[in-house]
Amino acid sequence: MEQLTIVSEVMAALGRVLPGRRPIALHEPEFGGNEWQYVKNCLDSGWVSSAGDYISRFEHLLQDFTGAPHAVAVVNGTAALHMALLLAGVRPGDEVLTPSLCFVATANAISYCGGIPHFIESDSSTLGAGPAVLGEYLNDIARISGGVCVNHNTGRPLRAMIPMHTFGHPVAIEGFLELCERFRLALVEDAAESLGSYYGERHTGTFGLLGTLSFNGNKIVTTGGGGAILTSDSALAAQARHLTTTAKTNHRWTFSHDQVGYNYRMPNINAALGCAQIEQIAGFLDAKRRLAARYHQAFASVSGATLFSEPPGCRSNYWLNVLLLDHPSETILDALLQTTNEEGVMTRPAWKLMHQLPMYASCPRMPLPVAEGLSARLLNLPSSAVLGRDDGE
Ligand SMILES: *Cc1c(COP(=O)(O)O)cnc(C)c1O
Repeated sequence: MEQLTIVSEVMAALGRVLPGRRPIALHEPEFGGNEWQYVKNCLDSGWVSSAGDYISRFEHLLQDFTGAPHAVAVVNGTAALHMALLLAGVRPGDEVLTPSLCFVATANAISYCGGIPHFIESDSSTLGAGPAVLGEYLNDIARISGGVCVNHNTGRPLRAMIPMHTFGHPVAIEGFLELCERFRLALVEDAAESLGSYYGERHTGTFGLLGTLSFNGNKIVTTGGGGAILTSDSALAAQARHLTTTAKTNHRWTFSHDQVGYNYRMPNINAALGCAQIEQIAGFLDAKRRLAARYHQAFASVSGATLFSEPPGCRSNYWLNVLLLDHPSETILDALLQTTNEEGVMTRPAWKLMHQLPMYASCPRMPLPVAEGLSARLLNLPSSAVLGRDDGE
């Protein structure tokens, strides 16, 4: 009976916020600005590939928007993470702390470095990792030895930590900064989902040694595929540029490379899309906040489920709206997924937890009851910017 009530109340609330057309996507891109013109400029000039003016223009727009002193545009967010971890010193056999409730790209990037993901617990007040419980855990398992943090259960170095701003909601980043200092870990911030989200006055992705963004088709702005590395360290930015451009030495005609590099630079045609998209980000953010406010209003009267709000002191981009069941229930969650998707309202559960995937099942991890509870409570709702506009269909 309870299940039927929740499902019908949720359907009614969704109907109030999303009248009109079906199906409704979870997140669709919008190309209402200079996209056609800038892409045409690339085609007309022949500069479509990994050199051209739009790349540095896009990087400057990212720097201005986030306040990061340096931005390096790359082919996707996963490549940005891979590069950031290499630059943070992650080497084969190192452990890297990362939330189990996360997109698979983060654990994969650790693996590309030969590192071992070490899964950490979530906090239901941010949906990201929680620094307090992690600090207690590290007090138990971590020892500083010769300036290096070592997991004394495995004997391996603990090299870095990757907090992630989940669905755009800022994590308690100051707590992680403090832990990284105390345990001598490099902080790499996965801000793939949080362009336009602020912790206090400061943009997410600018707190760590390095931060990463994604511009995949479902993110708040898209370049088709793309990503970026943010840092305030000019030497790291120069290394990122060099390594992502096949470590080619600077010469007018000689093809020479001074280390094993990567072909990770963002092509000009993608950067052209990115410039046009960033020009519109204020409007996207505004529309998404209005959509979130409508969801809040509509779900206020629904019993048994609550719309997730940005953490206090933070400003979220509300990339994907989150409905949380008050109590974990796979049965109710499945019923909601079934009914909404059958009715053409695309909803999605959280990612399957990383420690439950076959390739990561044997990785070290702390107890994860909150992450496991969240994955049986969490439903992502349609969140495209267009749905927040008054003329939005
Ligand atoms: C999207 C995303 C990435 C990177 O994705 P790409 O598709 O490679 O651009 C990384 N981490 C998280 C949490 C993401 O959501």
